[in-house]
Amino acid sequence: MRYAVVSDVHSNIEALDAVFATLRDDDALLCLGDIVGYGPNPNECIEKIRARATATVLGNHDVAAIDNFGLAYFNPAARAAMKWTQSVLSAHNLAWLDTLGYEFRMPEFLLVHGAPVNYFEYILDKAGAGRAFAATDAPIIFIGHTHIAEVYALHPDGSIHHEHLQLGGEIALADGVRYLINVGSVGQPRDLNPLSSFGFYDSAARTVTVSRVEYPIAQVQAKITAAGLPEALARRLQVGR
Ligand code: ZN
Repeated sequence: MRYAVVSDVHSNIEALDAVFATLRDDDALLCLGDIVGYGPNPNECIEKIRARATATVLGNHDVAAIDNFGLAYFNPAARAAMKWTQSVLSAHNLAWLDTLGYEFRMPEFLLVHGAPVNYFEYILDKAGAGRAFAATDAPIIFIGHTHIAEVYALHPDGSIHHEHLQLGGEIALADGVRYLINVGSVGQPRDLNPLSSFGFYDSAARTVTVSRVEYPIAQVQAKITAAGLPEALARRLQVGR
């Protein structure tokens, strides 16, 4: 089975379309949340994910869209974009977001937006990764949230190895090793690579591949401007931060 794993689409339909163009018909799709927020096409992104995904979990922006959760802690641009998102989201799409849960577990993997149990914690270092491994027995944990593609591997001796996947790359899954894999962000990458980021998990080949694909950034920037969303949200797409 091959799973495509996407996260942090953030209402960027051009980026999502570019990712979908790389999928095979028989790929299952897993979504780690933050479908909405920041970008100009929340309804279109929800409808695409909803039609294709096998499992989707909630991100903090999705929860904010539903009931203002955490909005007081959003930075001004994120908050302005969320207010705009709430004004355009259809009742139907909002109701669908409200059906989602915070985690999805299969025997070999766990999907959460930020971290196991503390769903919206930002895992930024080995200490955070260690807490995540301790909070679940899932062999593979897929996360997003920081918009930075990277992998932490917990070896049987307790050591944790870390690697950035800024340019993409393949991880050969080893027996007895557990993995915390951040697939990066489809719609707003922040690891200084503006290319859209997502992953493939091949359960038979025992590999996880992080891919980076081009999408028409200028087109999204024009839509952000036309919608009256903060200009900073357009600028950051160009530089991937
Ligand atoms: Zn996000």
